[in-house]
Amino acid sequence: MAVVPRVDDHLFYRDLRRPLREIVRGEGVYLYDTEGRRYLDGCAGSLAANIGHGNRRVAEVLRRQAERVAFTHLSRFTNGPAIELADWIAERAPGDLSRVYFVSGGSEATETALKLARQYFVDRDGPETPRWKVIARRSSYHGNTLGALSMTGHRARRSPYEPLLNAFPHAAPAYCYRCPFGLEPSSCRLRCATDVEETLLREGPETVAAVIAEPVVGAAAGALVPPDGYWQRLREICDRYGVLLIADEVMTGFGRTGRLFAVEHWNVVPDLLVLAKGMSAGYTPIGAVVAREPVWATLRDRSGRFVHGHTYGANPLSCAASLEVQRILEEEGLVERAEAMGRVLLGLLRERLGSHPLVGDVRGLGLMVGVELVADRVTREPFPSSWGVASRAGLAAERRGLVVYPGSGAHEGRGDHVLIGPPFIIDATQVEELADLLEESLNDLA
Ligand code: PLP
Repeated sequence: MAVVPRVDDHLFYRDLRRPLREIVRGEGVYLYDTEGRRYLDGCAGSLAANIGHGNRRVAEVLRRQAERVAFTHLSRFTNGPAIELADWIAERAPGDLSRVYFVSGGSEATETALKLARQYFVDRDGPETPRWKVIARRSSYHGNTLGALSMTGHRARRSPYEPLLNAFPHAAPAYCYRCPFGLEPSSCRLRCATDVEETLLREGPETVAAVIAEPVVGAAAGALVPPDGYWQRLREICDRYGVLLIADEVMTGFGRTGRLFAVEHWNVVPDLLVLAKGMSAGYTPIGAVVAREPVWATLRDRSGRFVHGHTYGANPLSCAASLEVQRILEEEGLVERAEAMGRVLLGLLRERLGSHPLVGDVRGLGLMVGVELVADRVTREPFPSSWGVASRAGLAAERRGLVVYPGSGAHEGRGDHVLIGPPFIIDATQVEELADLLEESLNDLA
């Protein structure tokens, strides 16, 4: 049914020149706009809406919780949904990751991890400790607030704000299609992991608090899957120099890569696990940092305080929705489904786009797939930035009724990709529909 679109005079968005369509309804993997046009949500918003749109169970839980109590402040009270959700996460997180601190989203969560890492060393070694730096990687995204952006390696997101950012060092990414060292994964001996160690040594290990990385890089570069052994090496390096390892699983956490947490692919236990997006599958704003027992115990035993907090931390509504989402994920076997459908999707996209003139690489893990667009498939030359190929691909897809997540600037400020990551409830026919629509959209550009 068509609905008259509202006049949009006062809101502004990232793109200040392009009006956006208004979505009035979501159901399963589809979204509907005011003109009744249907879109297959091929990227679950921003790889967040993992259980799909319009879930009645979550809606009902939200209604009941809102009637009971919608808001309490964490400085004075706790609440049932927060306690139950923390238990749920602690029981399922790897190793002794068992102490959960709730915030409102991904950037708040990475900022929280940064402050936790710093405070851990202040509490352990005293206020004069020189450990404050966080080593991140180029071609990474850790959020838009200033601490998170300081860790982010993606140039375009940083550049206008450089004077406001902290000078955190950035090591080479694990970007096999464009290996920063010109090596092949079969014989590289994880040179990019060695670069993390070299960066750490250059900075002086005694000044470093943590290493942060996304298990599979998402928004900044389009599903960069590291070689096997990479995460184990990061763990070894951090252990060798007494540095905390932070896994930013804002995008990968809660099943996106076919494991509940992506670090489980490599049996690695980070010291801090950062979560958001799939935590509530988009139904409410929420994020968290999960700390290993000794990190939390150091704060408790020394200063006894974490000097941090946000108004909506551990919000009862957000926690209740998140808990219901997690129950649904488990009861309906959606993580296993993400793994199975991810294989189908990756296979199909490789088959359809493997020799497409605009496509250089199709990669991914679980239901997180990146399609890198290139001007020349042989030399891997990216398109000129001014062409905005990824945005154009996104618009072409939208015209055909498919939503994808375009990105650019992964490769030293250049390069284009689209990120695909539909809700886990997608079925094989809908995966086929997604592949058809994406191929047709890229044909529109060729
Ligand atoms: N970290 C990662 C890995 C992300 O993918 C994102 C968002 O895309 C963030 C942090 C920031 O999360 P938010 O947009 O919820 O602030």
